[in-house]
Amino acid sequence: MAGEKMKALQNSSFWFNEARKSIPGGVDSPVRAFKSVGGEPFFVQHGHGSKIVDVEGREYIDYVCSYGPLILGHSHPAIVRAIQDQTTHGTSYGAPTPLEVELANLVKKAMPSIDLVRFVNSGTEATMSAVRLARAFTKRKFILKFEGCYHGHGDGFLSKAGSGMATLGLSASPGVPEEFAGLTLHAPFNNIERVHAVFKEKGKEIAAVIVEPIPANVGVLLPRGAFLSQLREITRQHDTLLIFDEVISGFRLAFGGAQEFVGVRPDLTTLGKIIGGGLPVGAYGGSGEIMSLVAPLGPVYQAGTLSGNPLAMRAGIEMLKQLQMTGFYKALNEKTERFVDALTTTVKRRHWPVTINHIGSMLTLFFTAKPVVDYESALTSDTKAFARFFHDLLSRGIFIAPSQFEAMFVSSAHSIEDLSKTTDAVEQILEKMF
Ligand SMILES: *Cc1c(COP(=O)(O)O)cnc(C)c1O
Repeated sequence: MAGEKMKALQNSSFWFNEARKSIPGGVDSPVRAFKSVGGEPFFVQHGHGSKIVDVEGREYIDYVCSYGPLILGHSHPAIVRAIQDQTTHGTSYGAPTPLEVELANLVKKAMPSIDLVRFVNSGTEATMSAVRLARAFTKRKFILKFEGCYHGHGDGFLSKAGSGMATLGLSASPGVPEEFAGLTLHAPFNNIERVHAVFKEKGKEIAAVIVEPIPANVGVLLPRGAFLSQLREITRQHDTLLIFDEVISGFRLAFGGAQEFVGVRPDLTTLGKIIGGGLPVGAYGGSGEIMSLVAPLGPVYQAGTLSGNPLAMRAGIEMLKQLQMTGFYKALNEKTERFVDALTTTVKRRHWPVTINHIGSMLTLFFTAKPVVDYESALTSDTKAFARFFHDLLSRGIFIAPSQFEAMFVSSAHSIEDLSKTTDAVEQILEKMF
């Protein structure tokens, strides 16, 4: 009996059944379920470096990296040390600490568009707070977002959103009153004419344009030529705030995020994921003029019991210190580039109907022969083919997000061997498929 009990505990199916008895769908975030690819998620025992190991002892090269935060891989020694050390001094005080000042200064150093920054506990909180602030600052109601961009699960963002919404094929969420949903306007990413059209109609009522400068939640999309600087221009002309949602791209593409990468300065920036060093942290910041409306400096209320807690701050500080080491981004981006180059060359040579979008250390293999530049073109992907690809990779010990509409993340912990093993696996699988 004891032996059987042990066996059950080492079985993902057992845990998935148990999980479904107490947690909706057995997962705490819908993207983790294997709904669009079929099958059941594995349950994780531990992660180290570029690998995660499931409760059955199977090891996977991990390209999910917790959906972005783990740019140093799992349990990086310096971050583990920082967290361990901090726990012995207390994990939350409900009073300010020097650690918050230190992390705030690192953020300001990374992003010159930020004079003041407020820490929160998730990317969702950051974007919700930034929009509230933008509405207060402009005294306007509407926001404009782009189809396929994901900004967390705040009510106003759950329309034509990426990530789990795209994966599950949901265009809106019940529970969001239509009065709220109606305040969100849409345009296709990369389509400045449509943005102009929306502004022509409603320009004087739009508080903010919120955009992932490099979208990664419908798979990776690349902004066309002047798209982001045109957004900068049109928002400035209409006294609308431009919010860069850099929850994924911040500290991912460069230390200064996408805004450094593309050279466009937003009014407000939202951060999350990497900035928490693997613990739950988000942040929003911008110019002193705008941010001084936030309570207690100003009347825009926003608060958090665990906001800026010392444990998360220590993890974030250590993370950003590591990322500032000379050559960090160059090495990571070049390593990823070589990996993507190898894949792209084969895909092109064999004329396989796959489009690879890539920037920095993020990439997506779309199962479509068409260029993928926005939500609509991403939707031309053959999600059934993706599902086969996903499961074949998994069976070869390679884990990517269980959705066509997500990015693969390469971390500094991924070795050349990990990447070449992945290249070989991808080529063998595609060879079989086409
Ligand atoms: C992940 C993500 C969010 C939401 O962050 P959470 O921490 O999951 O709430 C918001 N915006 C973007 C661009 C994201 O990728």
